[in-house]
Amino acid sequence: MIPVTKPFLPSREKLDQYLDGIYERQWLTNNGQLVQELTRRLEEYLEVDNLLLVANGTLALQIAYRALGVSDSRSDQHPEAITTPFSFIATASSLKWDGIQPVFVDIDPKSWCLDPDRIGKAITDRTRAIVPVHVFGNACEVEAIDTIAQRYDLKVIYDASHAFGVKYKGESLLKHGDAATLSFHATKLFHTGEGGAIVFKRKEDLERAKKMINFGITGPETIEELGINAKMNEMQAAMGLCVLDEIADNMSARQHVWEFYKDNLTSKCQFQQWNSNATQNYAYVPMVLGSEDKTLSVVKGLGDINVGARRYFYPSLDEVDFISTASGGVPNSRMISKKIICLPIYSSIKDKDLSKIISTINGFDEVKG
Ligand SMILES: *Cc1c(COP(=O)(O)O)cnc(C)c1O
Repeated sequence: MIPVTKPFLPSREKLDQYLDGIYERQWLTNNGQLVQELTRRLEEYLEVDNLLLVANGTLALQIAYRALGVSDSRSDQHPEAITTPFSFIATASSLKWDGIQPVFVDIDPKSWCLDPDRIGKAITDRTRAIVPVHVFGNACEVEAIDTIAQRYDLKVIYDASHAFGVKYKGESLLKHGDAATLSFHATKLFHTGEGGAIVFKRKEDLERAKKMINFGITGPETIEELGINAKMNEMQAAMGLCVLDEIADNMSARQHVWEFYKDNLTSKCQFQQWNSNATQNYAYVPMVLGSEDKTLSVVKGLGDINVGARRYFYPSLDEVDFISTASGGVPNSRMISKKIICLPIYSSIKDKDLSKIISTINGFDEVKG
C-alpha cells in the first residue's frame, strides 16, 4: 500500500540520546530543557520571534483566539470570525468550540486561499477576527488582508499549519497576522508526533499565552487567570529536535517527488497557482481534475493499485451541518473541493511508485478522454 503520506522518522540513535537525557533529568514536561531548546532552534530556523510550543495545532489556534481576546464575549451574542471553507475541519471547529461563529467567505479559484475582495461584505458588528489558511503552504494575500483588518479593527490569526518554512518576500510568512499557528502533527512536513506552535507578533500576547497553556498558573500559590493545559512535553520536543536536524534532506526529497509529478503528469489537471512572492515547501501535491466524476474514478483507479490518494479537502466546510451558518455562497470552495485530490508525497517514496501513479492517472485520460 502506498499511503498519501508517511510520517518522517528521524535517526533512532539520536532520538535515543535525547531520551537518555530525559531519563537522567527525570523532567518530562512543564517547559523542560528540550522544549526550551526546540523553541530557540525553531525561532532561529524559521527566523521569527515570540514562538510558543503547544500540545497540538488545534490548541495553537484556540490559545491564539484567547490570547488575542477574540473569544471573550462582551455581549450575549456570539462573536464571529471570517474564515475559509476550504481547509481541514480544525480551522472551523476550533472557532466553534470556543464559541466563535465561523463565517465562511469564498476562496480564489486559482490560489485556493481566502479571497480578500469578498471579506468586506461578510463583516458585521460581531466580527472580531479573520482566520485565513495558507492552504497547502500557499501564502494568502497577506497585505490585502492586513489592510482590511486594520480598517475594521479585526485580529488576524493565520492557520499556517501547512506553511512551515515558507518565506514571503524574503522573510518568514509567519510574521504576518497578529498570530500564525503551526501544526506539528505526525503527517505534517515538520512534526513532533503531536504538537504545534504559535508565532505572535507582539511579546505581550506571547506572555499572556504562556500563562494560558499552563492553567493560568503563574507561581506555586498563584492562579492568575483562566487557562487550560496545552503544554508540549519533552518526548515531543525530542522528536522535533531530531526531525529538525534532517529537515533539509526531507524537503529536498519532497521537492524531487513534487517535480517528478509536475514534469510527468500529462493528464488534464489544474495545479494550485502559487503566490509569486512566496517560496514553496513541498508539503502536498494537490491537483484539481476536470470533473467530480473523473476525480472519483481516479481515486478508485489508484485504490485498485493500492495507492491511497485522498479527496482533500472534501467536503467544503460550509457543508458540515454542525459548523455552518448555511450561507451557500461559496461556489469556488464547493467546486474545488469536489474535484481535488492529493497525491502521495513523502521522502521515502520510490520513483517507480511515482511512475506507477502517474501512468495510472495519465492512462485514465487516454481511455476515457
Ligand atoms: C493539521 C491541521 C490542523 C490541526 O492540527 P493538529 O496538530 O492535528 O491539531 C489545523 N489546521 C489545518 C489547516 C491543518 O492541516
